[in-house]
Amino acid sequence: MAEHAYDFDLFVIGGGSGGVRAARLAALTGAKVAIAEEYRMGGTCVIRGCVPKKFMVYASAYGKDIRKAAGYGWSAGEVSYDHGTFANAMHAEVDRLSGIYFRNLKNAGVEILEERAEFVDAHTLRLKTSGKEITAEKILIAVGGRPWMPSPDEIPGIEHAITSNEIFHLEALPKHIVIGGGGYIAVEFAHVFAGLGVPTCLVYRGEEVLRGFDADIRTAVHEGLKEAGVRVITGAVFDRIDKCEGEDLPLRISLSNGGHIDADVVMGALGRRPNTDGLGCDAAGVALDDNGAVVVDEWSKTNVDNIWAVGDVTDRVALTPVAIREGHAFAETEFYRRPWHFDHADIPTAVFTQPEVGTVGMTEAQARKEHGAVDIYKTNFRPMKNMLNGDMSRVLMKIIVRQSDERVLGVHMVGDDAAEIIQAIGIAIKMGVTKPDFDRTCALHPSVAEELVTMRTKWVPEETG
Ligand code: FAD
Repeated sequence: MAEHAYDFDLFVIGGGSGGVRAARLAALTGAKVAIAEEYRMGGTCVIRGCVPKKFMVYASAYGKDIRKAAGYGWSAGEVSYDHGTFANAMHAEVDRLSGIYFRNLKNAGVEILEERAEFVDAHTLRLKTSGKEITAEKILIAVGGRPWMPSPDEIPGIEHAITSNEIFHLEALPKHIVIGGGGYIAVEFAHVFAGLGVPTCLVYRGEEVLRGFDADIRTAVHEGLKEAGVRVITGAVFDRIDKCEGEDLPLRISLSNGGHIDADVVMGALGRRPNTDGLGCDAAGVALDDNGAVVVDEWSKTNVDNIWAVGDVTDRVALTPVAIREGHAFAETEFYRRPWHFDHADIPTAVFTQPEVGTVGMTEAQARKEHGAVDIYKTNFRPMKNMLNGDMSRVLMKIIVRQSDERVLGVHMVGDDAAEIIQAIGIAIKMGVTKPDFDRTCALHPSVAEELVTMRTKWVPEETG
């Protein structure tokens, strides 16, 4: 094939975390690269995910900090919160970040196409607005995912509910919000709104939130929601939503358990789906799984030789740093002749509840299943800071150790700054840290994190203890 027989060496579909990293790195080698983005550069994380979400977490935490400061002698007088002021500042920062993504791509020499792209065949894409057809030697699918909602046939009136996409654009705080779901997005926003003083109700089909997390973390987060004033209804789903115009709380949410709740905002955080509808993967011959995710191998390669996929669209681990690393690995492998692929083990993760969750490595259940005999070290205490401020929330720490060689398989924590602490623990886990390494490490006093290196007593389950 002659050089540049195609319009581009690489065409990236989707300007989110994974796509932007891959496009920019590939272009820096001198390759001819184009990226198509149908909405806003930066993708879910920057525009309607991690970034604005974390700002909302901060906004909500300030309220509590102001109240709690009284225990330390501070008197702030009358305080109030103005959602418009906060939202304007948040959106200005999101705009700034999106602009940086755009400029970084431009500076790297990437051609930016601000419209939707769909496959015509394995080497050809059609731009939706202009109708232009473009060919590329290699194509990277980095189209991310979107919130999933049931259809109005399944839940009549579900069209009155919003998703995490719209939650960032509320003009005023809700008078009463109902959130459906028990995943990390649902529990994070439950804390956000409760912290902002909004009566908040969480409706979850299961018995305990955060499926997939360590059981002790799930229990602690569940209790933490209640402690934060969230009304948690478990074992129930939305049955229907009726709108009664003119009412103060115009939405009546009927539940499968026979109860109902009135609210002015209903948010569904019921899961996410890969953005492959209408993408034309069938025209390109790209295989999808039953959920619509692009099937890839460890190199992020699809079943079609010139097409790769990274990030949420592959439904591996749906987190920003994962999408970035997958995009990075793809670009270095294909354009720098430095082949490597991302190792999906031991990814540090946070849930920005208040207090937050930080976790890395295996849950106790996973560790027992895969490694058999494990030792558990755990502690649960009220942190020093809370002794004077009236905050009753507690810290939970748990270390899971393989008995045969004392290797640490997982560390889980709920408490202030858990995300920051677990990021550093992630390095140790990746290096193969053992429990004796923890024990040899000197404590940093007084801190919450010192408990991680001072836990000496193995936890014994009650039934055998
Ligand atoms: P995306 O960032 O979703 O980017 C895909 C892009 O492709 C989008 O911009 C979309 O508009 C575009 N696109 C789609 N189809 C086409 C097409 N046919 N043509 C052109 N463009 C197209 N992760 C964390 O690590 N930490 C967090 O705290 C966190 N919080 C989150 C909070 C929320 C509310 C949500 C929804 C997600 C959160 N995530 C978090 C997940 C994180 O945002 C995603 O894992 C990450 O953005 C995935 O990156 P991506 O590149 O795969 O896709």
